[in-house]
Amino acid sequence: MNSEYGFNTSLLHMPKIDNPFGSTTTPVFQSSAFKHDDSETLEKIFNNKSMGFSYTRISNPTVDAFEKKVNHLEKGFASVACASGMAAIFNAIVNIVQSGDEIVAAASLYGGTVELFDDLKGLGITTRYVTNNIPSEYEKLISNKTKLVFAETIGNPKLDITDIEEVAKVAHKYNIPLIVDNTVATAYLVRPITLGADIVVNSTSKYINGHSNSISGVLTWGGNFEWDYEKYPGLKPYKKFGKMSYVVKLRNGLFRNTGACLSPQNAFYNNLGLETLGLRMQRICDNALELARFLEEEMKLKVSYPGLVSSPYNETAQKVLKNGYGGIVTVRLGSKENAYKVINSLKIPFILSNIGDTKTLVIHPESTIATHLSQEEKVQSGVYDDLIRISVGIEDIEDLKDDFRSVIKQILMIYGE
Ligand SMILES: *Cc1c(COP(=O)(O)O)cnc(C)c1O
Repeated sequence: MNSEYGFNTSLLHMPKIDNPFGSTTTPVFQSSAFKHDDSETLEKIFNNKSMGFSYTRISNPTVDAFEKKVNHLEKGFASVACASGMAAIFNAIVNIVQSGDEIVAAASLYGGTVELFDDLKGLGITTRYVTNNIPSEYEKLISNKTKLVFAETIGNPKLDITDIEEVAKVAHKYNIPLIVDNTVATAYLVRPITLGADIVVNSTSKYINGHSNSISGVLTWGGNFEWDYEKYPGLKPYKKFGKMSYVVKLRNGLFRNTGACLSPQNAFYNNLGLETLGLRMQRICDNALELARFLEEEMKLKVSYPGLVSSPYNETAQKVLKNGYGGIVTVRLGSKENAYKVINSLKIPFILSNIGDTKTLVIHPESTIATHLSQEEKVQSGVYDDLIRISVGIEDIEDLKDDFRSVIKQILMIYGE
């Protein structure tokens, strides 16, 4: 089969997966363990000498199909599916860092990741934050203790854009891998590995699943980074696996031992969701751009969206992203009271903490997802008390515009007066 198919054809047909009985989707292998004909076979599987399934905490055929699809999508070398996006991030990082090591990360990270980095302090791993997401700022914070650089393609809710290619160059200059969280952008907008990222993580609870029915995550190893096994001593015992050392260590260690596995049922939902990722993202990006322009130009609001010329990140967005600018739009409404009034009066959007659904979602980040962050962390994440975040869905755009128009006219005529 051709590996150069377009985005949507690839999602439906690549890679080729042999499903039993000619079934067109990979069935849910709802089995905790897998039997074998003899002890020799099981011995080989347990000693990485033969492929095969033994126990679902380690691997499972439905989950394996999902990993292969995501791996193809992200142009990776191998992928590991996890129980959540946070589990994927934890595993991707702790697989290579030890007490005394440092991480250099963008300051505009997802709140959960910032909190995870706070937790890592307890294990002796410190994070230094780049407040201004530009490549030279990363370089300033790299020390001889730095073991990885972490960034998000599109920061949420700050909506800043990482220049992946340039940040990767900085990291590689010091022989450090770059990990990119691609959740908000998805492979529809950019494949970070093709720009030099070494490991990509996705919370597949969002756009990849696409329908808000499963918490899940995945990490994808790019296969290009050359490990210095003296600098990363934890990987040394796995050196013999060559390009696979990072993933073999994970599967034989932390991933297996933290029980971070994805359930087969959730992998099944994700496999279904993946089929329409391209269609949904196209529609979501079109809707988000139109809604952002409408709110800025017609409603005269203070809107942030990487696709708007007014965004300070528009230039980097044009360089890094293809096909669109994503589905997240934020608006500042002058006060927390206004923000609450607007959120509470909208008829279509659901008020909840999630992104990447088919339905439009809205939230006040400062009092919810960012509530555990310090004041300084909030500012760095682009969180303000008058800001609302909209995760644009696939509804008819005229209906969304009508909903926002009537609410803003009613409530916010004060604004701009
Ligand atoms: C949601 C999210 C996560 C965490 O994913 P879960 O699946 O909720 O654990 C990580 N990073 C980003 C950018 C996210 O949006």
